[in-house]
Amino acid sequence: MDVNRRRFLEIAGGAGAAAAAGGCGAIGGTERSGAKPSTVAVKQLEAAASRPVLRLEGLDAPLVIDSVRLLRKEREYFVHVRSRDGAEGIAVTNSRAGNLHPILNRRVVPYFVGKDARELEGHLFGVYRHQSNYKLQGLALWCPVAWVEFAILDMLGRVLGKSIGELFGPVIRRDVPFYVASGRRDSTAEEEVEYLRGLIAETGAKAVKFRVGGRMSRNADAMPGRTEKLIALSRKVLGDDIAIHADSNSSYDPPQAIEVGRMLEDIGAIYFEEPCPFDHLEDTKRVTEALTIPVAGGEQEFSQRRFRWTIANRGVDIVQPDLQYYGGLIRSTRVARMAELAGMPTTVHISGGFGFIYMLHFASYTPAIGLYQEYKRNIERYRDWFDPPLEMGDGVLIVPRGPGVGIANVSDVLKGAELVES
Ligand SMILES: [Mg+2]
Repeated sequence: MDVNRRRFLEIAGGAGAAAAAGGCGAIGGTERSGAKPSTVAVKQLEAAASRPVLRLEGLDAPLVIDSVRLLRKEREYFVHVRSRDGAEGIAVTNSRAGNLHPILNRRVVPYFVGKDARELEGHLFGVYRHQSNYKLQGLALWCPVAWVEFAILDMLGRVLGKSIGELFGPVIRRDVPFYVASGRRDSTAEEEVEYLRGLIAETGAKAVKFRVGGRMSRNADAMPGRTEKLIALSRKVLGDDIAIHADSNSSYDPPQAIEVGRMLEDIGAIYFEEPCPFDHLEDTKRVTEALTIPVAGGEQEFSQRRFRWTIANRGVDIVQPDLQYYGGLIRSTRVARMAELAGMPTTVHISGGFGFIYMLHFASYTPAIGLYQEYKRNIERYRDWFDPPLEMGDGVLIVPRGPGVGIANVSDVLKGAELVES
């Protein structure tokens, strides 16, 4: 492995590998005991992934799910779960609920009604098998499963008086450094850099992500010359202290990805996301091997076995399950455990305006998360749902403290919401 890449991975996530191998590196520190990816056997990865995830001590009686409902209020969708004895939990979904509600209501909810919420980990396999749901798998199945999982985790947290992070392990951080992501490709390089400057000024971020290439474009740029110009200009205008991330959204074949990756190396960017078509694991691995800059990927992945392959074969340097597309926090934690064994950070991808809240809970208990986590703005939309209200510090977001997801009053948030039937 290249020296620069090894150094990055030590900083970004090597502490987890050190801990897993019995080392003593501090979180975010630079010590590791040299667990190399090629030495992590598939068996070890599988064992790490299959260990129980949730800590539900104190829940001695069954918590039987009585209802799971999809609700809508203006542009926001919610999943609300209630137990037979009146406990409740809530999830806020990404916008795909507008298309996926029939799968949620007809294929996922019926499985969960009548089940014991304490057995949530096992239910993730149960719902996958239920009525051959596995034939639908991809984000169309796993987003609805994630929403029900989030709502059940919220309910479990409320019953136990614990935050979601505390259900998974000790909370090891409350401050989460973030990068602010631009979602644009319709801008010229000059316009985009000005836009990034505005995002930094607005949020206080120490890191940004911009888009390169044309999105699934077979090497075509969004507009001629935009990518080269944007990469050079971003460093010049944003200065040396901003950590730069770039995402091609599956734009390139390996030669083109390597060329763009070299430009990113030249400006000291810290990662290159999804350089090749997302399901082209071999091409992505070729790029990972060729470049010094860490390659990140996995936001479209929905298979634990393919994540395992990617981790065992160092197909990327940083894994990025999307907490909703991939089916929730439990499944993503299993990926993070495998990645940690191989000395790789898990920097989750987020979807939905509220998605950064689930990212914050994931970051609160996951040892090796990488340097910066994704944030797409919107904190003001949700700030007062929480008690204390959501906060940002100097380049960091603060993990909510209340039980469950941290929403203070479910009835207030759902006031005026209407049932979505399918
Ligand atoms: Mg991406």
